Amino acid sequence: MALREQLLAVADELRRRKADGEKTVSIDDATLVALRSAVAAQNRGPMAVAAEAAPAVPVSQPPAAPPDGGADFARRAPTATRSPAPEPPRGDRGAALFGAGSAPAKPVRIAPAQSGVSIPPAPVFTLPEGDKATRWAWLKDKVENDPVCRAHVRPGKKVVLGVGTLDAKIFFCGEAPGAEEEVQGEPFVGAAGQLLTKMIKAMGVDRGQVYIGNIMNWRPEMPTPHGMEQIGNRPPTAEEMAYCMPHLKAQLEIVQPELIVALGATAASGLLGAGSFKTLGEIRGRWQTFAGRPVMVTYHPSYLLRNNSNRAKRVVWEDLLKVMERAQLPVSEKQRNFFLER
Ligand code: URA
Repeated sequence: MALREQLLAVADELRRRKADGEKTVSIDDATLVALRSAVAAQNRGPMAVAAEAAPAVPVSQPPAAPPDGGADFARRAPTATRSPAPEPPRGDRGAALFGAGSAPAKPVRIAPAQSGVSIPPAPVFTLPEGDKATRWAWLKDKVENDPVCRAHVRPGKKVVLGVGTLDAKIFFCGEAPGAEEEVQGEPFVGAAGQLLTKMIKAMGVDRGQVYIGNIMNWRPEMPTPHGMEQIGNRPPTAEEMAYCMPHLKAQLEIVQPELIVALGATAASGLLGAGSFKTLGEIRGRWQTFAGRPVMVTYHPSYLLRNNSNRAKRVVWEDLLKVMERAQLPVSEKQRNFFLER
């Protein structure tokens, strides 16, 4: 992969994190060394680039722990090899939340934000008549057999539609399936999903009592240059999000939730429109509207995995309390004082 593409991808990821509210990133020494050698190789010419790019960003030592409170941008894979390595969940790189302990560092590698497959205009379709289950089964079949969705999943991986009760009051909307989700064919089952499940539980409901979907039905693919395995996640492009939007709207039409919770900047811009806000901090915690339904925007669980501060958790919890109140879920004193009690 050309250095330029890699740098564009890094810039893309940094913009996304900034929109998510992150203010700092840390870069470990090994990454700086790798960057310098990539730039030096680039300056030496294409032959050198090909030779040096093949093993990817080599990191010889385990990275140092990030300073407290700083976003950990630089925790890289201890070794970058051609052998299969565990893939990070969508954007997940850090510790756990809502009472859980620390998680080990996860590998992070960033690739360009272009998909290799061109995206046609969004599909136009009408849901069949029938009860919710019939309509949802029709939609699931349609999405799983959609040629564009299928063209974007690698062999052995799955197109992912939402999951949950079709009578849900609350519809959680994330960004796109990650590594674990495309294997299991279900949204939010990786590290971010486990945290989301805890957050839902903290609201006094079970995961099975809500609906959980994504802006995207497939995991935005990463280029696989030089025969390397696919590692990491990238945000979906505007075209990709537009293509999947009718499927998301159809799920809303079936479920008819009372309200939507948009998780993170990508979900928020998918629902509210790209460019409708600069940073998530601007719009989170205040009711918005999508397709005639109230939308509460809050931080993505991946953000909380990266930023395990009490402040970040408190902010998300405040947003969720508003959701509980609007959905007329009982809010106990304990829940209201969730963070005051610690
Ligand atoms: N992150 C998302 O936004 N969606 C998933 O399904 C998993 C992780």
